[in-house]
Amino acid sequence: MSTSNFKNKCVAQVNCIYCDSLLCTRGMKAVLLADTEIELFSTDMPPNRTVDFVAGCYSTESCKCKLRDIACLKCGNVVGYHVVAPCKPCLLSCNNGHFWMFNSEAVSTINRLDASGVNLLLWGDLPELDGSEDESSDSLSEEEYLR
Ligand SMILES: [Zn+2]
Ligand SMILES: [Zn+2]
Repeated sequence: MSTSNFKNKCVAQVNCIYCDSLLCTRGMKAVLLADTEIELFSTDMPPNRTVDFVAGCYSTESCKCKLRDIACLKCGNVVGYHVVAPCKPCLLSCNNGHFWMFNSEAVSTINRLDASGVNLLLWGDLPELDGSEDESSDSLSEEEYLR
């Protein structure tokens, strides 16, 4: 399993096409394995305070993934879906850890530029999850060795 092709992909900013509010700054262009005519943008970071869940979980006919639609928090239009529980074949084939999808017909995207403002920002240039509020990682260093 190689992640190198994944790191060479452009980082896209994803905006709601209906109200133009910013949904996510870490979008990646993705193509559904089951249906290659549908264009999607995926992200590894749960969009924080920009989208909300609508309705309940459902599955598609192509596989057993549990999905849930997400809607723009500002205008209420459905912009994509979240993979709540991926099925085994999908988990094995989609190893980029992206479980948030935006439908390309519901969003507008802009490729982000790197710090120089000239080159496209690639996923390989990104730090691990910036702006994450996960505080579970700093508990490992607190071990004390008193003797
Ligand atoms: Zn919107
Ligand atoms: Zn699946």
